[in-house]
Amino acid sequence: MNRRSRDAIVVGGGVSGLTTALCLAETGYSVRVWAADQATDTTSYAAGAIYSPFLVDDDRTSTWAEQTFVELETLAHDRDQETGVTMVPGLQVCRGPAQPPDGATKVPSFRQCERPELPAGFVSGWSYTVPLVDMPLYLRYLQNVLVEKYGGTVEQRRISTLEEPASAASVVANCTGMGARELVPDPALHPIRGELVVVSNPGITRFVAEHSKTDRELTYLLPHRDVVVLGGTADEERWDLAPDEAVAEGIIARCAEIEPSVRDAKVLAHRVGIRPARDRVRAERASLNGDGTVVLHNYGHGGSGVSISWGCARYVVGLLD
Ligand SMILES: Cc1cc2nc3c(=O)[nH]c(=O)nc-3n(C[C@H](O)[C@H](O)[C@H](O)COP(=O)(O)OP(=O)(O)OC[C@H]3O[C@@H](n4cnc5c(N)ncnc54)[C@H](O)[C@@H]3O)c2cc1C
Repeated sequence: MNRRSRDAIVVGGGVSGLTTALCLAETGYSVRVWAADQATDTTSYAAGAIYSPFLVDDDRTSTWAEQTFVELETLAHDRDQETGVTMVPGLQVCRGPAQPPDGATKVPSFRQCERPELPAGFVSGWSYTVPLVDMPLYLRYLQNVLVEKYGGTVEQRRISTLEEPASAASVVANCTGMGARELVPDPALHPIRGELVVVSNPGITRFVAEHSKTDRELTYLLPHRDVVVLGGTADEERWDLAPDEAVAEGIIARCAEIEPSVRDAKVLAHRVGIRPARDRVRAERASLNGDGTVVLHNYGHGGSGVSISWGCARYVVGLLD
């Protein structure tokens, strides 16, 4: 197959892959996305998603998060109906005393809460207005921009080795999330399963999201216009993708303790995804084949893949310079 120096193949069609594809296209690359799964079957599709770096330990995260905040805020203000991104006010709450992470205190509207402002059962927290992302809409939006604005393509195709795309492009971006564990292979990646329930919106306009680094049951209510995403769970080393009815009932019950109106809201969907967790996000440049093919690794974002997506993608694409 012929290769041209400005050809890039991005492996992975989740939020990391599509955002990296757009950053490459912006810098003049002709971009093809190869993805093993339909968008609806990715972890990204399952995400809540709120701007809130979570389950990722990396000193670069707060810079990437700040950059992503700016991008998402712009998308919300420009055309939120189309992008699925909305700026929503709400509370981040903790069951014990907790220090807000760096990324939170830098949000312009950040304010530490007084105890009476918090829902029952929570003892500390803060309020701010942050991007909430309706992932089914947002993934479709990113893909549309890639195809319609930049002439990129998205193809359903599973690869077994990175040499496959490397034979067809001079730059390969590896954005395979949990798939990188076998593909690279990278045993440092481990799964953290998350489950959530989508219900019709009984009139909720503010989010409430529990902040915890350790709890496997996290409670959150994220309103997206007509629906509310209720969460959630964080189960280490659990891979199964079928919704678990008992888990879903537990999620609804916990959310109803905060907002009783969701108890009788119509359940519209269950979503399950596997967070690709790693001690450190793999955002780096490598070479392949000894023939100048560049590989940009961009995976291992844990529970923060949406919150740091733009910062990470710009960082790895910047490594081409
Ligand atoms: C329930 C839940 C809630 C979450 N909530 C939030 C939130 O509120 N905020 C937030 O920031 N993050 C959240 N996350 C985390 C976020 O979803 C992930 O960090 C992010 O989606 C990872 O994106 P990705 O593109 O790297 O991986 P994925 O979305 O998994 O995409 C990987 C892509 O690679 C492709 N692929 C894999 N292997 C191969 C192969 N061999 N060949 C070809 N293609 C391959 C797949 O088909 C897929 O297209 C949540 C996650 C879950 C599960």
